[in-house]
Amino acid sequence: MFSRILVANRGEIALRIIRACKELGVEVVAVYSEADRHAPYLKLADYAICIGPGPASKSYLDISRILSAAEVADVDAIHPGYGFLAENPHFAEVCQSCNIKFIGPAPEATRQAGDKLKAKDLARRLRIPTVPGSDDAVPDEKQALDVARRIGYPVIIKAAGGGGGRGMRIAHNDVSLVNNFLAAQAEAGAAFKNASVYLEKYVEKPRHVEIQILADEQGNLVHLGERDCTIQRRFQKLIEESPSPIMTAGLRKEMGNAALAFAKGAKYSNAGTCEFLVDERGKFYFIEMNSRIQVEHPVTEMVTGVDLVKEQIRIAAGERLRLRQGDISLNGVAIECRINAEDPNNGFKPCPGKITSFVAPGGPGVRIDTHVHAGYVVPSFYDSMIAKLIVHRRTRDEALVAMKRALSEFTVEGVRTTIPLHLAILDHTQYIRGQVDTGFIDTYFSK
Ligand code: ADP
Repeated sequence: MFSRILVANRGEIALRIIRACKELGVEVVAVYSEADRHAPYLKLADYAICIGPGPASKSYLDISRILSAAEVADVDAIHPGYGFLAENPHFAEVCQSCNIKFIGPAPEATRQAGDKLKAKDLARRLRIPTVPGSDDAVPDEKQALDVARRIGYPVIIKAAGGGGGRGMRIAHNDVSLVNNFLAAQAEAGAAFKNASVYLEKYVEKPRHVEIQILADEQGNLVHLGERDCTIQRRFQKLIEESPSPIMTAGLRKEMGNAALAFAKGAKYSNAGTCEFLVDERGKFYFIEMNSRIQVEHPVTEMVTGVDLVKEQIRIAAGERLRLRQGDISLNGVAIECRINAEDPNNGFKPCPGKITSFVAPGGPGVRIDTHVHAGYVVPSFYDSMIAKLIVHRRTRDEALVAMKRALSEFTVEGVRTTIPLHLAILDHTQYIRGQVDTGFIDTYFSK
């Protein structure tokens, strides 16, 4: 096992990793930007090092600053969390060359899995169903029109290097395709420093269902069932649950096998997630693999009883998976609501500022992953998520009741949050019945 790990992240996930390290008996080094210098979780780490000013480009995304901190603190591994440098193969390579273990897949596997076009190509070769579309990046409008005529409208234009739901546009006809195509290219170039875009058939009324996998460095793999992340705003997840309300034993086996086949094909190790869309007829299509721990990992932890962050660390330390597929069973139902400091009544505009009152819920079956407290100032530099509220009960009905109860206990004052929206969603018949698609929020709650 490692003796000291540096956490190259902030907020709730930094705290989550610190907790895992503590339980494993590993020393932990936190890094922070000037904007986070008062974060209470820093006191839980054995060491805390300032790596620069608030803007992420000068701190959490600055490889040389993070590596300097790692060298000074003499760590033997780095956990990247999610976002920031988590899926940057160059960062993983630099860690390797400094003799510091990157807690995640090898850089080659991230390159294969993280590039959406390469990943789709591998999936096709492995005969895993993918959404019909262009096999490669589409260089100009003329070729975009050719692809759209072949696959049929509506189509979705996606950035090859995209992420976080950004850089996607839907076109219903030739005119909107040409307009959106040029805008998507420009946007992709600016946002991801990679102007390549590609086309996919826009799957109408899909659900987003993803499979969590764990793979050790000796080639053993298991999947830990699915998470249903259909409740999204602007292609970004808002509520996740496990198991999926539409899942059957047969479909889980098929999707689980597809995810394992993909991970094997990509020579993947550590924790990862294969994302799929499931259409109205229950047919699934691979869309991408995320080569990191995900925000929504707690729902899988609750239903499987597996601590995914500790498993990540053990795998990176070279330990063999102690779990076999037969050991994994899903118990009960877990739901997670993302509590963001943003205004759902104003296009989900972020609301940074001071939290004047913060009272988190508790009681049976409630888990809160958060780094904030009363008096905390939500910085404007980073993601607007301030807490994850997770409930775990025996049945979905009980989980829904517990989530409503917990949300109504939750007091956050000083900044607007997604709590009222979550409460409204929990009252919506379609959601209660589990009959939703990714357009649910836009259809019923967009203002
Ligand atoms: P990102 O990496 O930016 O999160 P994804 O490829 O994972 O992008 O897609 C995010 C979401 O966008 C999906 O969950 C789904 O709601 C929507 N989406 C992506 N591709 C399609 C598609 N071909 N048809 C319909 N919706 C899609």
